[in-house]
Amino acid sequence: MRFQLNEEQTLLRDSVARWVADQIATGAAVGVRERWATMAGFGWLGMTLPVEHDGLGQGLAEACVLTEALGAGPIATPYLEAILIAAESLAQAGTPEQCARWLPAMGEGRCLMVPAFQEAGRAARGGAAVTATREAQGWRLEGCKSVVPAGDAADAWLVSARAASDGSGEPLYFVVPRDTPGVAVEPFASIDGVGACALRFDAVRLPDDCRLPDGAAAAVERACQQAAVASCAEAVGAMQAMLSATVAYTRTREQFGKPLATNQVLRHRMADMAIACEESRSLVFATIDRLARADRQDDAQGRALAAATVRAKVAAAARRIAEEAIQLHGGMGVTEELNMGRYLRRLLALDAVHGSGERELRRHATLRNSARGIDEVDDQADGEPLPFDEPGLDAFRTEVRSFLLQQLEPELVRASRLNTSVFSDKEIGLRWHRKLHARGWIAPSWPVEHGGTGWTLAQRWVFETECAVAGAPSVSPLGLRMAGPVIMRFGTPEQKAHYLPRILSGDDYWCQGYSEPGSGSDLASLKTRAVRDGDHYVINGSKIWTTHAHVANRMFALVRTGDAETRKHEGISFLLIEMDTPGITVRPIRSASGDHEVNQVFFDDVRVPVSCRVGDEGQGWTIAKYLLEFERGGAISAGRLRAALARLARLLPENALDDPDVSLALSAIEVDIRALEATELRVMSSLRTGQNPGSISSLLKLRWSEIHQSITRLGVRLLGADALVWETIRPLHEADEAPLDEDARPIVAGYLNARAYTIFGGTSEIQREIIARETIG
Ligand SMILES: Cc1cc2nc3c(=O)[nH]c(=O)nc-3n(C[C@H](O)[C@H](O)[C@H](O)COP(=O)(O)OP(=O)(O)OC[C@H]3O[C@@H](n4cnc5c(N)ncnc54)[C@H](O)[C@@H]3O)c2cc1C
Repeated sequence: MRFQLNEEQTLLRDSVARWVADQIATGAAVGVRERWATMAGFGWLGMTLPVEHDGLGQGLAEACVLTEALGAGPIATPYLEAILIAAESLAQAGTPEQCARWLPAMGEGRCLMVPAFQEAGRAARGGAAVTATREAQGWRLEGCKSVVPAGDAADAWLVSARAASDGSGEPLYFVVPRDTPGVAVEPFASIDGVGACALRFDAVRLPDDCRLPDGAAAAVERACQQAAVASCAEAVGAMQAMLSATVAYTRTREQFGKPLATNQVLRHRMADMAIACEESRSLVFATIDRLARADRQDDAQGRALAAATVRAKVAAAARRIAEEAIQLHGGMGVTEELNMGRYLRRLLALDAVHGSGERELRRHATLRNSARGIDEVDDQADGEPLPFDEPGLDAFRTEVRSFLLQQLEPELVRASRLNTSVFSDKEIGLRWHRKLHARGWIAPSWPVEHGGTGWTLAQRWVFETECAVAGAPSVSPLGLRMAGPVIMRFGTPEQKAHYLPRILSGDDYWCQGYSEPGSGSDLASLKTRAVRDGDHYVINGSKIWTTHAHVANRMFALVRTGDAETRKHEGISFLLIEMDTPGITVRPIRSASGDHEVNQVFFDDVRVPVSCRVGDEGQGWTIAKYLLEFERGGAISAGRLRAALARLARLLPENALDDPDVSLALSAIEVDIRALEATELRVMSSLRTGQNPGSISSLLKLRWSEIHQSITRLGVRLLGADALVWETIRPLHEADEAPLDEDARPIVAGYLNARAYTIFGGTSEIQREIIARETIG
């Protein structure tokens, strides 16, 4: 899977962007055909056409580069309809004569041919569906196409029709030149300025060679799916431009004596816009790849689902961003003087032709239900083809599966299934940790020299996904994903030699001593003090919400070593503390979910050797931030989310998917998981092994936690009256008697426990603030 543009694509993007900026700057009212001729002159129309018909033979990726740049304008053109639908349908399904007659002219801009497929909308007020009747000398068309985007400016139309003799069969497709007798063109203005028309066919006679051969419907469907993806790329261009304009405006526009961009409510709304842009762009990249794979595997169902997924996500996100952008521009936002309204109008046009977010979500639900039903929802990660074409990956997946089959005992799977928390019970997590360690697979994200696996991104994805599908327990991230990377980066050679092997083996079980009763989001205000006494620090104070402190033998902690309380970031150091050191007391805190996970830890004159400090004295804040980025991002969480959703699906009563509420709720979550997965893969593909993900980790944490919460919320809804049942024993797998079915047992406690997902590791508000700082400054 490729998430970066290659050199040629970058050049293409830059040249289109320059032209678009120029078009916008001159502000001249340019006609559709004039603009079309210019685009042809640059060679953009022929890019995706076959080489044998004077095209460049490029693919959807290049088309998306072009449409994204057009979207930033916005420059509305009939590119999606003319090139990606009409020309592509001809190229795939036309006869050699049809291709030779039309395609070179289309690539050169001499002929504009657009699809005329839509019969809904205006047709309801005047006109019957188009029918095709076989005659001795060809075909006769009758009826009306009510909305033909760019149809007014076209030289020919690709018209769909039902055979009069067999109205329920596949549609037939005809190329109808503009001057064909009996065709009446009724032009009307379109919302995006491209123009449109209705077409009436009154005894229109066409020769046989105007009809695309049998089987064209599949090619047309495929072309429409490609156009749907490219329409999303266009929407991404628009989203990014609207976000940039909104940021620029709110930074300069002052109200109440300060720039609007300093107001947190507005900052967080712009952070959400930035998140939606990032996810949408990742999903477009991933979908290009997914369509190509589905093509190779001849998986029509997979193609349709991928196209519905990306439009459901991106169309909805783009509309939301446009509405937000207008709102945050105040009165200026609604005027024609600013571009915001033009973006929204173009997005509405894309929705009308390629499907709105709501319509595509319904389509996703229908496709999913008809293809897989409840059982397959349950098994979806298993049934999916691999999203990578890497040599040896199938063999690797087989190897992982056979390892899981041998080593993942049913008892571990059951405990994991009944787990109400994101953390495994220590005993269960450690048992699995040790098995992975014995196989050399415990630290896939670590560099090989420190005990990592050396896997590619694709292998890591396969491993995580297979573990999730098989129901393996999670292993504690505190050593592997937090203490470990910090020690690797900042530790002394002695610290690395001592701690890293013990993290890998599971001999050390870590907890994190950051938060304090008076210091949560404002962590740098922490007060636990470490005073130097010879070659020891003497620690006094308290940490709170310390996950698994009651079972950990080590803590990494932030302590105040500096004198100047006022310069709060600089007086903090990072210490590694043994939990059995005299003076440490742990007070359990039970949470609303009934779990005992967190604790308060008291330090009374606790002596810790100076050699247990990581980094320099006063460097703790830098280290803490580095660690937090690992804590929040850098994992592949989509597989586990999908597995959690699959477990929910097992709760569905028979025919539950007939309920559109349930079906749409499942689809919405599935679409969100796809977008998160694409973002995770995009982020990770740009990282070297062991490198931290930077501030994008905030986006990943935010979305992961929100999606997980929505899964648990849906769970409680599906449980109905059974949500009343409460079990008091924790962990649940240790209870002798169970009042509910196994799949139902962890739902309510899991929902309660999940309230913490948007709090621990830095609250969602704090993540939005970090994203806002990155986006706005
Ligand atoms: C289950 C669980 C496990 C945890 N495990 C650990 C652990 O192992 N180790 C550890 O050190 N900590 C742990 N934490 C603590 C966690 O990191 C903190 O709870 C978190 O950082 C929030 O701090 P707080 O609870 O003091 O809330 P506060 O900071 O008091 O925040 C209260 C509310 O105000 C909002 N808020 C605060 N500041 C701002 C701001 N500037 N702008 C906008 N909104 C703001 C917050 O988002 C929140 O909604 C855990 C917490 C939970 C719930």
